[in-house]
Amino acid sequence: MSGSNGSKGLLGFYFGTSLVARILVATALGAAVGLALGPQAAAVKPLGDLLLRLLRMIVVPVVFFSLVVGASSVSPSRLGSVGIKLIAYYTITTALAVTVGLLFANLLKPGLGLVLEGTGGATLSATPPSLVETLLNVVPTNPVEALAGGNMLQIIFFALLLGIGISTLSESQDPRLSSAGQAVFKVCEGGAEAMYKITKWIMEYAPIGVFALIATVFSQQGSKVAGPLAMALGTVYLAFGAHMVVIYGAALKAFGLSPLGFFRRAREAMITAFVTRSSSATLPVTMEVSEEMLGVSKGIFSFTLPLGATINMDGTAIYQGVCVMFVANCMGQALSLSQQLTVILTATLASIGTAGVPGAGAIMLLMVLNSVGISVSEGTAAAAAYAMILGIDSIMDMGRTLLNVTGDMVGTVVVAKGEGELDGSKWD
Ligand code: ASP
Repeated sequence: MSGSNGSKGLLGFYFGTSLVARILVATALGAAVGLALGPQAAAVKPLGDLLLRLLRMIVVPVVFFSLVVGASSVSPSRLGSVGIKLIAYYTITTALAVTVGLLFANLLKPGLGLVLEGTGGATLSATPPSLVETLLNVVPTNPVEALAGGNMLQIIFFALLLGIGISTLSESQDPRLSSAGQAVFKVCEGGAEAMYKITKWIMEYAPIGVFALIATVFSQQGSKVAGPLAMALGTVYLAFGAHMVVIYGAALKAFGLSPLGFFRRAREAMITAFVTRSSSATLPVTMEVSEEMLGVSKGIFSFTLPLGATINMDGTAIYQGVCVMFVANCMGQALSLSQQLTVILTATLASIGTAGVPGAGAIMLLMVLNSVGISVSEGTAAAAAYAMILGIDSIMDMGRTLLNVTGDMVGTVVVAKGEGELDGSKWD
């Protein structure tokens, strides 16, 4: 009797504690147990493998449904000049973000010297595909095959087209077509929401999985992982800071806006993003801040912010750039220039396809790793390096979500200024 009460109390305590705190505690506990028990700690490995499998299970449906919904939420009539300018801005800043991440990773070389041992054969592919091939490969010859095979670039391409197709249907003058379009939209919207729910459930399990993954890593690698992990974290945050100051600062200045004034006015949304680790959850605050503090007209932000929360993820892009280099370094292999160019392309696309929910970027990292021939399967060195990153993912997620949301707001004020839709009196 008291035993069942006790276990309920324990469960209540588990679920009542914030996820960030649980994952941080799990990381520390996992490291301590792994170090203390040594090889014996490997007994918990299946619990970690379970988390990896769950994450890999959800990646295709999450990307597919959220992209279809994202693309179809934009009415074709609004995808005019503002839309094209905005998408160009979002894409360019995201590609710049990956580049900033790669620059810092090349400079600081996180993970170098830590050659993780794996039992499997995950190595970088000897002959990476050329850029042209990679671009051509984005177009699937069979979308069902792309979905079944988990080919992310092809899934993204098809989902975007499908989303635009659905929104074109929904806008049709023919009531039969428009109601059909809306029906498909509803199905995808329900699918996306259901996938977010499942992601939440997986994240509830994540602390246990992270504990097991970290314990396994530390039992095999010992304390030598602490330094490289701190290095990876430091590299990511330095790149976040540089992107914020240099890229956002330059964009704001180019439009005659004060960067300091912007950050002061935008801080509430930035802090909310940091603590919720979700661009979508922060959206109501981002909208309010853009209207009340930054003086952007509703006509602009009602379109730019939801689109930004769906496709514009500069923080995620930086994180992916750094982490791919980290995993490759941990495997004792350097990425060639052409592989790094591939990373710029795939991380840009991957961050576009990342859902604005906690931890989504870590799932999409699998796809970027794949694009340079690194496959994260159980027992491999790549899986050990990936597990290390997952162990501190919540800390990385806070910073990248903050940057994701800040990027949306910078894009919004810049476009608003360019369109004469910014209320200057709010900036006095
Ligand atoms: N949590 C991030 C966001 O909501 C996405 C990610 O995990 O990178 O913006």
